[in-house]
Amino acid sequence: MKNLTVLGSTGSIGVSTLEVVAAHPDKFRVVALTAGSNLELLKQQIEMFQPDLVSVLTADKAKALSRSLAGKKPQIMHGVEGLIAAATAAETTMVVAAIVGAAGLVPTAAAIMAGKDVALANKETLVTAGHLIMEMVREKDVRLYPVDSEHCAVFQSMAGHRCQDIHRVILTASGGPFLNWGKEKLAGATVADALNHPNWSMGKKITVDSASMMNKGLEVIEARWLFDIPVERIAVNIHPQSIVHSMVEYIDGSVMAQLGVPDMKGPIAYALTYPGRVACGVKPLDLTALSGLTFLKPDTDRFPALKLAYDALQAGESMPAVMNAANEIAVESFLAGRIGFMAIPDTIARVMDLHTPRSLHSIEEVLEADRWGRRTAREVLGSTN
Ligand code: NDP
Ligand code: MG
Repeated sequence: MKNLTVLGSTGSIGVSTLEVVAAHPDKFRVVALTAGSNLELLKQQIEMFQPDLVSVLTADKAKALSRSLAGKKPQIMHGVEGLIAAATAAETTMVVAAIVGAAGLVPTAAAIMAGKDVALANKETLVTAGHLIMEMVREKDVRLYPVDSEHCAVFQSMAGHRCQDIHRVILTASGGPFLNWGKEKLAGATVADALNHPNWSMGKKITVDSASMMNKGLEVIEARWLFDIPVERIAVNIHPQSIVHSMVEYIDGSVMAQLGVPDMKGPIAYALTYPGRVACGVKPLDLTALSGLTFLKPDTDRFPALKLAYDALQAGESMPAVMNAANEIAVESFLAGRIGFMAIPDTIARVMDLHTPRSLHSIEEVLEADRWGRRTAREVLGSTN
């Protein structure tokens, strides 16, 4: 029996996680859940999974939730304190980190420091603080399992091999809804266009990141830290069918890949049950029903965000945290209809130009870099709007 905390239980990954959990009541118990603002869904999850502790964004929401619950109530907390309490709950053995954005960093770091194994969906944790997080993982001797489908594919394709046997990690990218759009058309892309992902159903922020290819950029940085592989040996292939979830190329020329229909329940179940496997409702893959599998080089002229992420990783130190913060602000502005689609990479590039990287020695210093990136992105946007 694994005792779980699910951070971000009301999101796309959170909901899929609880579907896997519900299918295997003999294997999992839910100790704690955290949500942001979606009290209706959290209420249903409380009724179904009977957690000991829940946390929501604000004190007002915590009060509203308490009023709306009848019968036996869990302990209800709020804010960062509530997230940390959920991440470090004594009975929890594994934390599913599925909050979106840099807001996931502090509770994920707290979980590791409390000795919990982590199933990591929140890639921003490794983007902003990769070296510190991996140091904590080693120090506390906990397991960090990737939930991101590409990294789960790499993890599966690496089984039993040492990093020095690997020539390259090849992350696949669907190319998103704008794969074949020209530059001029991209400049006029609407929010509805960007949210219309061809293969995956996900939260809004990551869906926009997929459309701009910043998602792949964040994943390159995530792979660098998860697999301790230098940036020059991480490649990206566009693979519009999203069937090959990523590959590992070995020094002997052999390439291992992991395939499956695109459904996040697969990687989630793998992270929750490794080294075992459980049935999780993912449809079987019928390769004969596909018209083909194609692979292309990414076009960083139309999708500059991917190159910005490589640049940030190369610059190192605080640059990836600043890049991530600028991206979060730009995506928020795009989703609110305040800026055009190409203003996302333009804003990130401006903020990165203005930043002088400095080394980060603590999570507090990462948060400081994150705040600087957000403030500067707002200033850049303010001056161009
Ligand atoms: P969603 O937007 O669907 O869900 C985010 C979750 O985090 C919700 O539960 C939300 O609460 C909560 N939340 C949002 N902001 C805060 C905050 N400031 N403090 C506390 N909780 C907060 O995101 P996804 O599930 O799509 O993505 C989650 C993470 O997983 C991201 O880092 C993403 O990059 C990664 N990921 C997602 C994939 C996917 O298929 N969706 C695939 C691979 C990685 P509420 O809704 O109640 O406000
Ligand atoms: Mg992914």
